[in-house]
Amino acid sequence: MQTVTHVADLRSAIRQWRCEGRRIAFVPTMGNLHAGHYSLIQTARANADRVVASIYVNPTQFALGEDYGNYPRTLESDQQGLREQGCDLLFAPEDADVYPPDQAGPVARIDLGELANSLCGAFRPGHFAGVAQVCARLFHFVEPDVAVFGEKDYQQLLVIRALVRAFAFPLQIIGAPTGRNEQGLALSSRNQYLSAEELQRAVGVIDALRLAVAQIQQGEVIAKIEEQGYHQLAALGFRPDYFAVRRALDLGQVGPSDKDLRVLVAARLGKARLIDNLPAVRDTDVRAN
Ligand code: AMP
Repeated sequence: MQTVTHVADLRSAIRQWRCEGRRIAFVPTMGNLHAGHYSLIQTARANADRVVASIYVNPTQFALGEDYGNYPRTLESDQQGLREQGCDLLFAPEDADVYPPDQAGPVARIDLGELANSLCGAFRPGHFAGVAQVCARLFHFVEPDVAVFGEKDYQQLLVIRALVRAFAFPLQIIGAPTGRNEQGLALSSRNQYLSAEELQRAVGVIDALRLAVAQIQQGEVIAKIEEQGYHQLAALGFRPDYFAVRRALDLGQVGPSDKDLRVLVAARLGKARLIDNLPAVRDTDVRAN
């Protein structure tokens, strides 16, 4: 596996594969890779001839006071892991490669409306505009046929799909399932902000999500499920940002005929902000609410 820092080197490596008619998959990450990321690499391999990963902690998606400075950076072990997973090329740029200072002009802010401004977008103002900005640039640098994103960040996955539609990027977006530990906790680079005791308690997130899914299947009123999930986590010592049941397709409010739903949670525990979600299918014949 080759590692490149500059866009010109990335493009020349990819040009060669294009000439050979190879199908290219792309997996953007912020590094500090774990088994969840590696499962995305495997999905990418199954859908293309060559796999490009990127590692870049994008400053524009962090709000002031968030963990940009502390975000774990572990390039060498990430490279080793990617090599073992059969990744072909790693793009690990510096800020000046992604946002060249000499090309700075008026800031083009990508506003994807309610989808980007609700839920995590409401608690992290500007976050999804930053995600959309960096992904748009990365998609132009790599020009992949397909890009793989984790369902772990479900709202992000929908934001990226909306970005691709809005700007007609010629690529397919694949969503990959969430990698979890044995207790069901979603793997995340931010889990290492937790103490051993908090790590045990963090399982409360998946418990609350699973209970909500069961309640949805039983036809419980949505607002009740949201309230109960929020309080369940608060009682365990979390500081929840939200516990929400939304339409899976676009994260809109659930209407009487909506069947495919998503339960989403963001909650702070110690120094970490944990997010997770699960799908839920509602039998609208049981009860409409
Ligand atoms: P990050 O490095 O956290 O920005 O994540 C890079 C990509 O990996 C995103 O598409 C995430 O959704 C995905 N990802 C992060 N954690 C997991 C996980 N536990 N399972 C599956 N995908 C994940």
